[in-house]
Amino acid sequence: METPNTTKRRNFLLKVIHGVGYYAFGTVAWGVYLKQSQANSDVLRPPGALSEADFVKTCIRCGICVEVCPYDALKLSKITDHVSLGTPFYEPRKDPCQMCIDIPCASSCPTRALELKNLIRDDVLSINNAKMGLALINTQTCLAYLGLQCTLCFQACPLTGDAISLFKERNTRTDMHAFLKPVVHPDVCTGCGMREHACPTTYPSIFVKPLSSISGDIGSHYIVGWEKQDESRARESAGDSNMKKTPRNEKSALDNVNDVDGILEGLYD
Ligand code: SF4
Ligand code: SF4
Ligand code: SF4
Repeated sequence: METPNTTKRRNFLLKVIHGVGYYAFGTVAWGVYLKQSQANSDVLRPPGALSEADFVKTCIRCGICVEVCPYDALKLSKITDHVSLGTPFYEPRKDPCQMCIDIPCASSCPTRALELKNLIRDDVLSINNAKMGLALINTQTCLAYLGLQCTLCFQACPLTGDAISLFKERNTRTDMHAFLKPVVHPDVCTGCGMREHACPTTYPSIFVKPLSSISGDIGSHYIVGWEKQDESRARESAGDSNMKKTPRNEKSALDNVNDVDGILEGLYD
């Protein structure tokens, strides 16, 4: 027979079991969340976005940029997107950024994770200054490079002629025809993805990648003397009297070649 005490004890045990279950579920969910929250260098962010690591820290996942985007280009990441959870991104093959001239997404971001300052060049704020990514061409699958007629990416580009040009080349395969070769200009390309969207090949032959995942870095040990900002570095380096010089060998090359004793010494060291 069940007494009030046994009922109480059973309820208590059930609560404990539920508590442990919720704790275990919470731990697993938190682990998944943390994994998803790690910076993914292969994701395309809206115009003006901070560097990926700073963006992930600054964005509060409010979704305002997604709401105000008139072309539904942006979406907030879900757990299956493998992008830091709840952050905005776009997929050019499906919905490219249409480069609105009033940049509603960046203008309405409350935390400046989308920073308008990043879209200013020569004191002019413009969506054309965006650096969301860079379009790359796979010349093995691009129809134009294969000698077929295709200029769709050229036509779709909002900065056509500046961000992408067509060059006439001889078709070495047929040796009879010319073809129009599309070439992307990295200094102008914004990475909006309109060309990726327009490309007719099964997998796009022109596709956008975030700059962080493809850019090289010249490094500080190279000085580009003809660039203004590097001029002073070049001067400093030329006049650096503290630079340690490697001691030079005083023997001539011929002496070294004929130094039989030295060579034999080296062999038995
Ligand atoms: S510029 Fe326009 S289309 Fe592009 S993400 Fe912002 S609101 Fe959307
Ligand atoms: S508006 Fe700014 S803070 Fe809000 S989701 Fe978009 S990028 Fe993040
Ligand atoms: S649209 Fe695609 S296939 Fe056509 S020229 Fe451009 S990259 Fe090549």
